[in-house]
Amino acid sequence: MEKLGLSFDLLNPFSKPYERLQLKDGSKVVIIGGGPAGSFLAINLLRKAKRFGRKIEVIIMEKKKAINISEQKGSECYIGECNYCAGVLSPKVCEALKNLGLILPSDVIMDKAFIINIFADWKTISLEVLREMTSVYRGSRPRGRDDSIYNFDSFLLESTVKEGARIITTEVTGLGYSKDGRVVVNYNGNSQIMESDFVAFAGGVNGVVGNKFDAEEQPVSYLHRIMPGFQPPKIRRAIIFELNAGENDRFMHKINGELYYILHGSRSLKLEMISIAPKGKYITVVLIGPSIDNSTNKDNLRIINEFMSLPNIRKILPQGAKLRNICICRPNMVIGAAKNPYGDRIAVVGDMLTANLYKDGIGSAYELSTKLAEVVLTIGIDKRSLKKGYGSVIKKYQTNNALGKLVFLFIRIFFSNSLYSRIIYQAVITERKTKAREKRRLENILWNTASGEGTYKNIILTMFHPLVIWSIISGGLLVTLRNYITELFFGLKWGNFTRITTGVEKEVFESKTDSIKEEFSGNLGEGYLDFERMYTIRISAPREKIFKELGKFGDKDRKYFKPRFIDVRRISGEANQPGSIIRYNICPKLLSFSLRLLKAIPGEHISYEIMDGIGRGGILFFEIDVLKKGNEVIDGENMLSIYVGFNFSKRILKRLFPAFMHDVVWNYSLCQLKDVIEQCVYSKNDTLA
Ligand SMILES: Cc1cc2nc3c(=O)[nH]c(=O)nc-3n(C[C@H](O)[C@H](O)[C@H](O)COP(=O)(O)OP(=O)(O)OC[C@H]3O[C@@H](n4cnc5c(N)ncnc54)[C@H](O)[C@@H]3O)c2cc1C
Repeated sequence: MEKLGLSFDLLNPFSKPYERLQLKDGSKVVIIGGGPAGSFLAINLLRKAKRFGRKIEVIIMEKKKAINISEQKGSECYIGECNYCAGVLSPKVCEALKNLGLILPSDVIMDKAFIINIFADWKTISLEVLREMTSVYRGSRPRGRDDSIYNFDSFLLESTVKEGARIITTEVTGLGYSKDGRVVVNYNGNSQIMESDFVAFAGGVNGVVGNKFDAEEQPVSYLHRIMPGFQPPKIRRAIIFELNAGENDRFMHKINGELYYILHGSRSLKLEMISIAPKGKYITVVLIGPSIDNSTNKDNLRIINEFMSLPNIRKILPQGAKLRNICICRPNMVIGAAKNPYGDRIAVVGDMLTANLYKDGIGSAYELSTKLAEVVLTIGIDKRSLKKGYGSVIKKYQTNNALGKLVFLFIRIFFSNSLYSRIIYQAVITERKTKAREKRRLENILWNTASGEGTYKNIILTMFHPLVIWSIISGGLLVTLRNYITELFFGLKWGNFTRITTGVEKEVFESKTDSIKEEFSGNLGEGYLDFERMYTIRISAPREKIFKELGKFGDKDRKYFKPRFIDVRRISGEANQPGSIIRYNICPKLLSFSLRLLKAIPGEHISYEIMDGIGRGGILFFEIDVLKKGNEVIDGENMLSIYVGFNFSKRILKRLFPAFMHDVVWNYSLCQLKDVIEQCVYSKNDTLA
């Protein structure tokens, strides 16, 4: 360790010169805590030091024994070895791991996300996952599990060993300074000490789960002793629990590959954020909100049972999930930033410093530790150098999280009220149908908030962009008002079935209609069509079942597509038989027409041609396609798409048959159809429901 000359504060010519301290060959660094912050710091320090030609010693002191995974295989989990985290790795973290050359082994990856479902009070919207998102277990397996316990934290710790770090399995219990100013680390029940040139505290905020972070309690007490102005970050309690879906393979098959974010609870269970992350045959759930803030450990089971019986949750989670096997705890979640988190030869990193509000804590641990490694090796390890290099990143987090609070306030206001959330969802769908992906600002806001990819600053700036406000007014408010009146007109009352958006993305619409037009060129002719619409809905049922229900289109007793003023009847032939004719009697009569079934391939598609009335030529096409997550075809999960294209037989009809009415009637009818089919499938198989 060496003192590197004298430096002066250029802004204050009367200031005393200070000694800049730096790491040199042979310096020893102790990192307290082997979570993501500790491991990323060790890897960064060792790699950077090598690049600068400096040999430093890095020791990680981690109290969990889970690092010795080889010794633990098949044994019971250690109580308290969990890291109380949902373990969703954001696109940022997946990218960072790749850049570091750290390839996650397949037994650490529990699931890859392909879809993010956002549930608000009005409708559910699904977002395609654009960049890699993975879920993992952190620390030891949750209680009651008997499969492999190899996990993300162990993998990172192993990677630090490969870089040259040494791991000591021990709990740090005290810190102080030696006479020559080095940091003394007490460990092993204060029975051992180690002198170090630099110490990074990466012990997180759940060293002892349930710790209230009092100034008298460890680790705050010893951090305060060595950094007198230190104050830990603000925290909030969360409930995290794990469900075992039992032998319900089909259900897990259905929800694996998807993440769920629900933005409200109920009147009595006040929740602000719920996340559900499936992992193999288990499901990790995190709850945050006033009902959690104001509860104690004793309330955990009551809260979870109330949560499980919320109507929107019953639609996602299997009723057969074995509650007896759950693992529950109430860890701390960081919602603020620490004060004065550095002193001479010591700095705090990771959760104990700060984290991105409610999202991507592991990404924050990565970013903070990368910055700290850079500062320590290029600027210095004295308080002033650390403040100079590291202070800016802390300020960035403080500002970003303050804006994050605003983002979540808006989300809460808009998404927990059915009218407001309907307006927002309508605006998202209008944008999705009319704008290219890179121009869809509202969808971007949802993606960035849900994936943790964007900064809150950018999210807020996008939220208040004049074009976004205009999209909400024109594509959301006005369209919602128009749709609402249309629903009243056609007597469409939303029942107890799931409301889902059925609008198709511009890109999908263009590519799909091209192939349909090619196939039905004889009916549709060449070029522009007066009327073209497409809708898609996901249905959890076998393809044959969907096909059969579509055959009832035209039956008197069908349970979907029954808007007022529109009477649809099969007037000749049999269900799903070529040549059968369906008559649409619409008021006014001028709009009526008939459809003749051209072709029906069981479980695949049904096509009708428009014979007369409103249309000159034209097609109504139903297509049942498999749902794919990545390259995997999901059994029993299908996408039903509907395409309508024709030219009006008279110009005047264009005004009498507005496309938005068609959208409203079909959106409602498709949600109804989905419900009819799924109810029928589920009632036969309790565990699937
Ligand atoms: C309920 C919940 C869900 C979350 N879900 C996600 C998510 O899905 N994705 C995401 O990115 N982030 C998530 N987070 C945030 C994320 O868990 C943290 O931001 C992240 O773990 C911080 O990493 P860390 O290394 O700073 O701390 P930690 O992960 O807490 O690691 C600290 C380590 O230090 C060790 N330690 C503590 N004290 C001592 C000591 N005295 N001596 C020796 N060792 C010690 C601990 O054993 C632990 O291994 C979630 C947080 C909560 C509370």
